[in-house]
Amino acid sequence: MQLTIPENLHALQERIAKTSNQYGRAVDTVKLLAVSKMQSEEKVRIAYEAGQRLFGENYVQEALKKQQKLADLAIEWHFIGRIQSNKAKLIAEHFSWVHTVDSLSSAECLNYYRPRNLPPLNCCIQINVGKEKNKGGILPEQAAGFAEQIICLPNLRWRGLMTIPPLTDDVNLQQEQFGKMKVLLTTLKTDYPWLDTLSMGMSGDFEMAIAEGATILRVGTSLFGRRLSTT
Ligand SMILES: *Cc1c(COP(=O)(O)O)cnc(C)c1O
Repeated sequence: MQLTIPENLHALQERIAKTSNQYGRAVDTVKLLAVSKMQSEEKVRIAYEAGQRLFGENYVQEALKKQQKLADLAIEWHFIGRIQSNKAKLIAEHFSWVHTVDSLSSAECLNYYRPRNLPPLNCCIQINVGKEKNKGGILPEQAAGFAEQIICLPNLRWRGLMTIPPLTDDVNLQQEQFGKMKVLLTTLKTDYPWLDTLSMGMSGDFEMAIAEGATILRVGTSLFGRRLSTT
């Protein structure tokens, strides 16, 4: 039996509330970011009508098309894909958040192109917590040095950390990786007390992410179903 998007959304909200309670977290400290990459604009609209407000996209051109068609909705758009420097201007202009900042040059581009009539662009530093080759993000031990540089950019508002840990259904491994992120954020908070964001947890592992302090869960498939190869 296939559930509808509103049914999926309510089921997700219930799982998030239950897990938050279980780990002593206030439910309103855990936000759901609906990852709509390679999902149709109609599906985004249905999720919006069911109450979802935050949506995440990975590909700039795809996102801009969708944003145009959904311009009548009060969506908060988050960019969660790799930042290509030739797309930094469009990202800076068309999103409220960027989760994937992992180089000074892309941070500087986003800062340069952020329109001055918009509030500063909310950013997370992406951490390659599993130290995987070919994965975006800086190493955990580089985070403090990178932080010193990113806070100098006035049109960015650095909010916290993001990670995509190695894919595993071993809950002990999940806990270890997410736990490292929690410790890293806590450490950074001694120098940067305003940090309030841990973007981690996807369809397969968000419950453990909540246990380890996630504040933004990035969920696609569990909400929208399988992704299309083209939109
Ligand atoms: C695609 C994607 C997700 C969502 O993954 P699901 O397994 O479909 O929930 C989350 N974060 C990032 C960075 C992604 O690219």
